[in-house]
Amino acid sequence: MSTATLTIDLDAIVANWRALDAMNTSETAAVVKADAYGLGAARVAPTLARAGARHFFVAVAEEGAPLREMLGAVPAIYVFSGHMPGDAEMLRAHKLIPMINSLDQMIRHAEALPGHPFGIQLDSGMNRLGMEPAEWAALRQIALAQNPTLIMSHLACADEPDHAMNPQQLATFREMTDGLDVPRSFANTGGILLDAAYHFDLARPGIGVYGGRPFDAAHPVVTLDIPVIQCRDLLPGETVGYANSFTATRPTRIATVAAGYADGILRAMGPKTSLWADDTPCPIAGRISMDLICVDITDLGHDPASLQLIGPHQTIDTLADNAGTIGYEILTSLGARYTRRYIGG
Ligand SMILES: *Cc1c(COP(=O)(O)O)cnc(C)c1O
Repeated sequence: MSTATLTIDLDAIVANWRALDAMNTSETAAVVKADAYGLGAARVAPTLARAGARHFFVAVAEEGAPLREMLGAVPAIYVFSGHMPGDAEMLRAHKLIPMINSLDQMIRHAEALPGHPFGIQLDSGMNRLGMEPAEWAALRQIALAQNPTLIMSHLACADEPDHAMNPQQLATFREMTDGLDVPRSFANTGGILLDAAYHFDLARPGIGVYGGRPFDAAHPVVTLDIPVIQCRDLLPGETVGYANSFTATRPTRIATVAAGYADGILRAMGPKTSLWADDTPCPIAGRISMDLICVDITDLGHDPASLQLIGPHQTIDTLADNAGTIGYEILTSLGARYTRRYIGG
């Protein structure tokens, strides 16, 4: 078997959710959009429901429909993108709660699904989704008369605790919602870590549950082991891979492993990244190919059966730093070819 093995620790996911829930002064939801950040909503969401999560968030209605089948009738499932044209039947059949983002969506929802639960998404400064203060001021009486079950907004800079945007968005959100008799949701992972003032009634962590920054105390969730297909010796002066970008400066042993950028191992991380043989780092030699990576195992002293890219020695955030991106992108890029193994749960 030459596919790499992605191991996903469901117990670590539960421990992370519980730790965030313990820090959060209100109720804690789970964000499972993008197939639970690439880790598999079919396994992750029911595990979190068993651990006590009663509220789940997805990006689009199409993600909510299968989630309803996985979770059964009871948990609340909210859709960030709200009520889009053609969504009504899916929202109704699967009892999904759209977070209404605009007057257009409000009208569409009231016409297509009168009486069907909905929430309101407000823009407190990120300028991505939700009603702006003026739009909300014009619409709020009509919207509130139809009994929204949740009002939410989203922080743009929550992973930077000292950023002035955080208190500014908090003030805007409070101006727009103080005194209303509707539960409120504001904090993502970073927002939970900021301060209790950001917690309101329901927090919405995602990345921290899956072991990423800014939740520094998170248990690592993902391990990626890649089998070695072939090993070879190089003489000084020989080169490795596309564009000859690695040249041996000493007698060198190269291992070729069976994964590449088509599996979400971003090419940009190559120059700064090693794969690990137990406790020994083995640097990537030359460019990451589509399905293969060459690794300098000279200092290892033996030919390993496999090498580890993600694990205790190298987190998703280290890889993100090496590639100039964020842990979220590393997780959601994880490839479809991996053999996925779930432990715990
Ligand atoms: C993705 C997302 C979250 C979760 O954010 P994390 O930073 O992963 O905790 C919460 N709310 C909204 C609106 C989101 O889009």
